[in-house]
Amino acid sequence: MTGEVTEAANGAAARTYRIVEMETHDVRFPTSRELDGSDAMNPDPDYSAAYVVLKTDDGFSGHGFAFTIGRGNDVQTGAITALRPHVIGRDAEDLGALYKEMVNDSQLRWLGPEKGVMHMAISAVVNALWDLKARRAGKPLWLLLSEMTPEEIVDLVDFRYLSDALTPEQALQILRQAEDGKAERIETLRREGFPAYTTSPGWLGYDDDKLRRLCKEALDQGFGQIKLKVGADLADDVRRFRVAREVCGPDYPIAIDANQRWDVDSAIAWVRALGEFNPHWVEEPTSPDDVLGHAAIAEGIRPIPVATGEHVQNRIVFKQLLQAGALSYLQIDAARVGGVNENIAILLLAARFGVPVCPHAGGVGLCELVQHLSMFDYVAISGSMENRVIEYVDHLHEHFTDPVVIDNGRYRAPSAPGFSAEMRPESIAAHRFPDGEVWKDA
Ligand SMILES: [Mg+2]
Repeated sequence: MTGEVTEAANGAAARTYRIVEMETHDVRFPTSRELDGSDAMNPDPDYSAAYVVLKTDDGFSGHGFAFTIGRGNDVQTGAITALRPHVIGRDAEDLGALYKEMVNDSQLRWLGPEKGVMHMAISAVVNALWDLKARRAGKPLWLLLSEMTPEEIVDLVDFRYLSDALTPEQALQILRQAEDGKAERIETLRREGFPAYTTSPGWLGYDDDKLRRLCKEALDQGFGQIKLKVGADLADDVRRFRVAREVCGPDYPIAIDANQRWDVDSAIAWVRALGEFNPHWVEEPTSPDDVLGHAAIAEGIRPIPVATGEHVQNRIVFKQLLQAGALSYLQIDAARVGGVNENIAILLLAARFGVPVCPHAGGVGLCELVQHLSMFDYVAISGSMENRVIEYVDHLHEHFTDPVVIDNGRYRAPSAPGFSAEMRPESIAAHRFPDGEVWKDA
């Protein structure tokens, strides 16, 4: 099962390789000790990665992970291990075929289908395969994807269950339209980066002084938008929104995020009660599975826009949200649906419906990953940065070998080969659960 490598970094003659090893690690960061990442549904997260490394017989490695928030990260790591037979001995050049093979493993599929722990495990492995492919090509992933032809990109997508909203021909048309101006957009990205917004000021566990200080810092750092967590107590939300408005001014975009806290009717009432502060969007107002609920909320709070996606389990639910007119902003997550391949399907769906993609990030490593997908979207699919921002949280980046760089409120385009997914070996060792240094005495 070996294949020809035709795009090696050094341009050397084609050679063959195989994946010979899969390593997994249960890595957890004790973030709950400082209430970083606290919101209305997740009061004490320990940001974690079910981490996978794929190694080839010629010395390359690819890194990927599923993001969890602590307990259950061992289950997630075990699910990744279940995919081992699909990758060991493979060359991983045709990532469209390998992705579809994993998603359609009939016995593992029973655990979803295409949702939950098993699907997130597929995401980790698919993303590790893309990291490997981009490293072998000597290019950052966003550029590798951007330079593929429309036909090659369409081959990566599983169109099953999508054809009532998006056919391969329609996808090709979107991609061909974006061919024009690609080179200029690559140059724009390298020069200017991609706009970011920050969630750092808004965690629910922070007091008003910390909120005020962090809002001021966000402005000073050049961010064009912030986001506040809401949904635990309305009086607190009103007070905190007022503090943020005082610091940021009346017209500055401030989004709010309820992390699935509400039922449909309470979402409508609560968001209306915050309407005087002019929320830029309301994020995850209710269950990520409730398509009609999101549509009802969108109707009930108009003109305040609804955003969701970080917990949307697959392309089919995204399709329905778009068909129902339930979304004004679509928030992909790099490590929840079936990795790069399924996210390409979702980016194409968003383009088809004319909805801007503003990714979810934060956690551990999610900023590192998702920046590549937004940049690819800009170059090769939507062709636009208008109304688009990538979430940024200033947290845990020091554990990565190629951490994101934020420059005046914008993500700088990565230049190192790969998917920016590799965690430092010493960080993995120190945070391994339960035997790493930080957990030993916990
Ligand atoms: Mg969120």
